[in-house]
Amino acid sequence: MKVYCTECQENKDESEFYKRFIKTEIKQVKEPRSNDIVMSWNITQGICKDCLIKKFTHTYKLFDENFEKTLKAMCEDYDLPFIVSLVSIHNDVNFIERLKFYIKDIHCLKQYQTMTYLESVGKKEKSDIDFINEDIKQLKNNIEKAIQKEDFNAHNKWMNSLRDALELRDKLEDKTKWKEFSSHYYEGNKSIKGENEYIALWEQNGNNDIRNRRTFKVEKEVPTIKIELSRDYIIEGDRLTIPMKIGKYSYEIHANKVDGKWITEGKCN
Ligand SMILES: [Zn+2]
Repeated sequence: MKVYCTECQENKDESEFYKRFIKTEIKQVKEPRSNDIVMSWNITQGICKDCLIKKFTHTYKLFDENFEKTLKAMCEDYDLPFIVSLVSIHNDVNFIERLKFYIKDIHCLKQYQTMTYLESVGKKEKSDIDFINEDIKQLKNNIEKAIQKEDFNAHNKWMNSLRDALELRDKLEDKTKWKEFSSHYYEGNKSIKGENEYIALWEQNGNNDIRNRRTFKVEKEVPTIKIELSRDYIIEGDRLTIPMKIGKYSYEIHANKVDGKWITEGKCN
């Protein structure tokens, strides 16, 4: 299997990646000419061994050759467990070998195979939103008490505070929430399907920060069929079945409704 490296932007053999540095996600992109067609496909990507070591070396130098600090940053970046007891085991080899041992250890030791970074450091850091949520909880309690005491002045005061807190939470959530964006485009002024066709995916938040930007060249025509709905289709809840006849063969196409759009299952029965 070929895997896309987001650092060197090359498709490389799976063996050129460490297992924990590969992820497969399902991506869906709207066809630019029609809002009704959504293309979906699997994307397998990660950072290859060469790029990972290069990146690690760079950070290692940046952090004054502090191995533990560099490793912790890497684990946070790639959502891997940071296990202090494993860091100190192999300290008689150079830092690249130490990194390789560490990756091997967390891959081989069962208790660490599915552990995330946050689980390994034992706690989730409190965010501004967490603090506001605590305030909101307290304000709601105060309002409840004011109602019980029939203290309407206090009730109005706490209601105003609650409204402000809710507004602030909305604003913060908007700023920090990452949403997925995509674009499908042709490079140059002539559009040739599968020749100069690209798809870009990225995430963006309310501050217009962009992360995780990836570009894919569309190698061959995207397997999308535009279906004119005939009278024969059957809709049961969020599932659509379209009977089709091609020559002497009968087929059924199935689609599911996701966010108001019909998405085909990608196979015909
Ligand atoms: Zn690479």
